[in-house]
Amino acid sequence: MVDNSPVRTLVHKGLTIEGYSRAAVQTYWRLPELKLGFDLGAQPWSFMGTNTWFVSHAHLDHIAALPVYVARRRMMKMEPPTIYLPEGTIEHVEKILKLFTRLDRGRMPCQLIPIKPGDEIELSREHVVTVSATKHTVPSLGFVVWDRRRKLKAEFQNLSGEQIRDLRLSGTEVTEELRMPLVAYLGDSAPEGLDACPAMYQARVLITELTFVAPSHRKDKIHKFGHIHLDDLVERRERFQNEVIIASHFSTRYVDSRITRLVQRAFPDLLGGRLHLWL
Ligand SMILES: [Zn+2]
Ligand SMILES: [Zn+2]
Repeated sequence: MVDNSPVRTLVHKGLTIEGYSRAAVQTYWRLPELKLGFDLGAQPWSFMGTNTWFVSHAHLDHIAALPVYVARRRMMKMEPPTIYLPEGTIEHVEKILKLFTRLDRGRMPCQLIPIKPGDEIELSREHVVTVSATKHTVPSLGFVVWDRRRKLKAEFQNLSGEQIRDLRLSGTEVTEELRMPLVAYLGDSAPEGLDACPAMYQARVLITELTFVAPSHRKDKIHKFGHIHLDDLVERRERFQNEVIIASHFSTRYVDSRITRLVQRAFPDLLGGRLHLWL
């Protein structure tokens, strides 16, 4: 396998999380069991088989590899991928793909689908993606992947199988949908992106940006640029119910050892071992 971009991996309860993110460099995440990925800042060769992608926003470190990915799948004779993008960006991305088609003389077959906060995308019977607003310097989105199943309604719990069958035959809806947030993804955003979507705090796995960690990089200034500071996570520490929190997208102005040191000072037990720094 060609090794063209770094990828880190973590497996939690049968769910694999793969990815890498560094501010102003590149961001890409993939959940192979869910057959989807977030952001196309670069495209590791091993990610090519995943055909559904959600792009959080159009900054280059999150979208630059979109044409590369589309062209690569065509060359490898794979099905055209489906890429969900913030609605205002589609027109421009289509133009870019057309220009690359002229330069490269290769087609760019793909389905680009506009999305906005509040949208719900049905991936399958078991999985749905919801879209939330985030706060950044350009239109930007957050995503939650939900596991959903049907469950007998509470008022029918004590009925016999026969009674339930009769109700069902008479046209009564006996089940209701039960949803559980599996994975939440906050691309670039000020902390409002977390606060606006309670499922971000409840998802089994949260992937979040954490661009700034140093006390000298002041929060108020950082929020203007639409990013999260370590102090924002500290303020919200009681709210995180996630089993795994992956923090990434660190600024390139920090060396790795400084990030680790500052985060460990703020969270000596790394939120009970739930907080993972992906450097
Ligand atoms: Zn970024
Ligand atoms: Zn950005």
